[in-house]
Amino acid sequence: MELNQLTIKQAQEGLRNKKFSSVELTRACLDQIKKTDKKINAFITVCEKEALESSKKADKLFNNLTIEQLSNDLPLLGIPIALKDLFSTKDIKTTAASKVLKNYVPVYDATVVKKLKDAGAIIIGKTNCDAWAHGSSGENSDFSPTKNPWDTEYVPGGSSSGSAAALAANMCLAATGTDTGGSIRLPASFCNVVGLKPTYGRVSRYGIIAMASSLDSIGHFTKTVEDSVLLLNVTSGKDQFDASTPGVDVKNYTKNLNAGVKDIKIGIPKEYITKGLDKNVQNRFEQALKEFEELGANVEEVSLPHTEYGIAVYYIIQPSEVSSNLARYDGIRFGSLRKNFGEEAKRRIMLGTYTLSAGYYEAYYKKAMQVRTLIKKDFDNAFKKVDAIITPVSPTPPWKLGEKIHNPLKMYLSDIFTVTANLAGIPALSVPIGFVQGLPVGMQILGPHFSEELLFRIGHLYEQVTDWHKQKPKL
Ligand code: GLN
Repeated sequence: MELNQLTIKQAQEGLRNKKFSSVELTRACLDQIKKTDKKINAFITVCEKEALESSKKADKLFNNLTIEQLSNDLPLLGIPIALKDLFSTKDIKTTAASKVLKNYVPVYDATVVKKLKDAGAIIIGKTNCDAWAHGSSGENSDFSPTKNPWDTEYVPGGSSSGSAAALAANMCLAATGTDTGGSIRLPASFCNVVGLKPTYGRVSRYGIIAMASSLDSIGHFTKTVEDSVLLLNVTSGKDQFDASTPGVDVKNYTKNLNAGVKDIKIGIPKEYITKGLDKNVQNRFEQALKEFEELGANVEEVSLPHTEYGIAVYYIIQPSEVSSNLARYDGIRFGSLRKNFGEEAKRRIMLGTYTLSAGYYEAYYKKAMQVRTLIKKDFDNAFKKVDAIITPVSPTPPWKLGEKIHNPLKMYLSDIFTVTANLAGIPALSVPIGFVQGLPVGMQILGPHFSEELLFRIGHLYEQVTDWHKQKPKL
């Protein structure tokens, strides 16, 4: 196996036992980027020089520290990780995939970036995405769309398109993302990797270019659920710079990973199995449910009656917050150029300004906030009956590039199964469940606030009895 194909867990073992060096591992990823990224366009910036320098330093530490010191203090030492280009990186260009910020170089690291670096991770580059994270396909990037590594005529899902595609194509060992309405889960499911959208506030938003502040969740993409645990162990926790990070204890998410799902109750919301759900996706999903039953889980129907309002509510609240957050790019700060805003950002700024304006606020924004509460209560009620809920991530398999880009409403509808988790603030884990005509499909496992440990347990067990997540695209 080539080094860039390893999981974090495998690479940790190899590095700690000196089977290979971090320089070799980093080089393998950089070589893969050189070989394949012309076709995929997953990166906006590749940090070759910085990555090689840090990996040299990592190798020195491997020689000088004990395995115990390494696993306690530097759990990600020498592991190449890519960052969505929304994460502020000190001295490295951070564009949000928008021409507005094409020359912006932050003077500080986002909290998550700092935590990853402090844990020893190697930052290999900054990945492409929909500009400002507005989108579901990656096509809103001002730096050309990312292609799906499984078939380059198809979208990789968005907005964290480059992170998911880079990982699926083995250009890194993990990648970060943001999920405001599905931007981690959708690309994870379209590219056949694992994606975690943590509970709102579990991971600090400080230093990440804001989209919609009450919905933005900071998470990551990995090759396995086990790797997802290793990253959340590092990135989660209270941050003095983000008041929405609560003091809720950070668990050691590794501890109960192998506890299984016997006697766990899994709910299937009847509102998700509708006419709009692609038949092939439905078949894959039902197969996954059967597997859970065989593993000893109790699967039962639940109801989330306000699901049908999810998209309408999300597409009022989110643009409202976008219009406020993007007001800071006023041409005075960040070297930003206002005239460079793209179509989609302008659409959202106008929509949001309208829904917040005097006279319309009560009719749109306030009403949407009230229905948001009902959507959250739907989940609260369901979680009185079941421990977790499982649904497909997307109602359809990946679609062709260009297919929806001129029809924003159609594009927005692809978020129908993902936005409600953000509206309710609950965690969700996207896991591969197979293929439809050669293109990946995923399920999401949802749980109550701060139930990441349980979601990992369920996802990990599923990976022990299936090998969908091990399938790799031929490039
Ligand atoms: N696709 C959704 C949107 O366009 C979600 C984006 C996101 O999660 N960043 O708003």
